[in-house]
Amino acid sequence: MPAAPGRPEADVIVVGAGLAGLVAARQLVAARRSVLVLEARDRVGGRTANASIGAGKVTEMGGQWVGPTQDRVLALASELGVETFPTHHEGRNLLELRGRLRRYKGTIPRLAPHVLLDIDRARRKVRRAARRVPPDAPWTAPKANELDSQTLATWIRKAARTKKARSLLEIATGTVMGTGTAELSALWMLSYVNSAGSFDALIDVEGGAQQDRFVGGSQLISQRLAAELGDDLAVSAPVRRIAQDGGGLEVEADGIQARAQRVIVTAPPPLAARISFTPSLGGRRDQLTQRMAHGALTKCAAVYPEPFWRDQGLSGQAVSDGGPVATTFDNSPPDGTPGVLLGFIAGAEAIRHARRSEADRRRVVLECFQRLFGEQAAKPGIYLETAWAEEEWSRGGPVCSFAPGALVHCGEALRQPAGRIHWAGAETATVWCGYMEGAVRSGERAAEEVLDAEGWRL
Ligand SMILES: Cc1cc2nc3c(=O)[nH]c(=O)nc-3n(C[C@H](O)[C@H](O)[C@H](O)COP(=O)(O)OP(=O)(O)OC[C@H]3O[C@@H](n4cnc5c(N)ncnc54)[C@H](O)[C@@H]3O)c2cc1C
Repeated sequence: MPAAPGRPEADVIVVGAGLAGLVAARQLVAARRSVLVLEARDRVGGRTANASIGAGKVTEMGGQWVGPTQDRVLALASELGVETFPTHHEGRNLLELRGRLRRYKGTIPRLAPHVLLDIDRARRKVRRAARRVPPDAPWTAPKANELDSQTLATWIRKAARTKKARSLLEIATGTVMGTGTAELSALWMLSYVNSAGSFDALIDVEGGAQQDRFVGGSQLISQRLAAELGDDLAVSAPVRRIAQDGGGLEVEADGIQARAQRVIVTAPPPLAARISFTPSLGGRRDQLTQRMAHGALTKCAAVYPEPFWRDQGLSGQAVSDGGPVATTFDNSPPDGTPGVLLGFIAGAEAIRHARRSEADRRRVVLECFQRLFGEQAAKPGIYLETAWAEEEWSRGGPVCSFAPGALVHCGEALRQPAGRIHWAGAETATVWCGYMEGAVRSGERAAEEVLDAEGWRL
């Protein structure tokens, strides 16, 4: 197999050119180490992806929002000259529950008082329970075994008494995790919530994870990082095999064979498991990757000449149990033209949706938009859809989660290096796990780990 063009050897090989990999590489270069980043796709950015909506403008089909306390990704963007702008959320939100459409202001819809009380009680329970689960070691939490042995659905059934409150919590979790509450460990979800600070931080626009967006789209950050790396990055180079011996590592990607002293793998755990490792990584790491599954999130974008819903006093945000679209947002560019309506389809609905023909997929999504926002939503100029579960090099999104019963036994292997192999990626983060912020922090942490392990400090 031919050597990597011009660089058959590097101090560190980084697998994956999403935010985690590009940040790790940047930090190592800053410490004057040689790096080679190998990316499977023909583009950088991983789970962030810009899509053109004409006139040089973009909308995002992957990760996009940032919010308060996401300091590392915000600092990085600012260094790279990528600015932020507030998410449009003025106006009334919509809630469609069991066929009834209501308008409301803020995060909590106007519902019967006993339902509102129930939602409030459930939120307080989540807050209290999450605070007791340390995201760097969830298995040390009080009652860790008990929490890990139940699904989030079971936990929610105890935390909320009314069907409406449960439905809302399930819709919120679906969009946040891309998966049904019956598939998740309650311990993992509580750890996830705590890593973000609170459940409200996960779901809110103002003051929460959806507060701001990046001008030019979130993928621009990765594109700028990649430009800094130049020839130290190869795309269309899926890594197939990593072999380590006493003297270092040999990494085989399509068309490239290279050696390094250390490797940082940033592919999400189920994807990392598809690489062949010699010697084997051992049972615990292997069991972990067999029990961490990606969510299934599909993002749909309809582009209209103007964001017509704003004239009707609507924010563009909706929550619905009518299916298949569970939540919507106004995703128009900073100047508000064209108007972009964004819809999320999550979990089982996303898997079902992917089996429809292209024409049917467009039709059912636009029917949802029409039900919520009226006739004008029926005929967008452009319709875009990305089903992350269908993406070969993600196989799901937005984040991988633990099935019940595995976190307490295998969780430690998520970050623990395997010899000279280090792990990064949003799932390995202990602050804003699963988010761009977490990805950036994980890349920084893995680079530090490598520098420490080799005594490569400047
Ligand atoms: C639909 C959606 C919406 C989201 N919304 C938000 C949001 O609003 N805000 C937010 O902060 N986060 C959001 N996220 C999550 C966020 O995008 C991710 O947490 C983050 O981008 C992950 O970065 P990463 O570098 O850890 O992983 P990735 O971006 O997945 O990067 C891993 C890279 O490894 C590559 N790879 C895989 N296998 C191999 C291999 N064998 N060889 C070489 N390369 C390989 C992949 O192609 C990929 O480029 C969203 C994600 C999705 C999918």
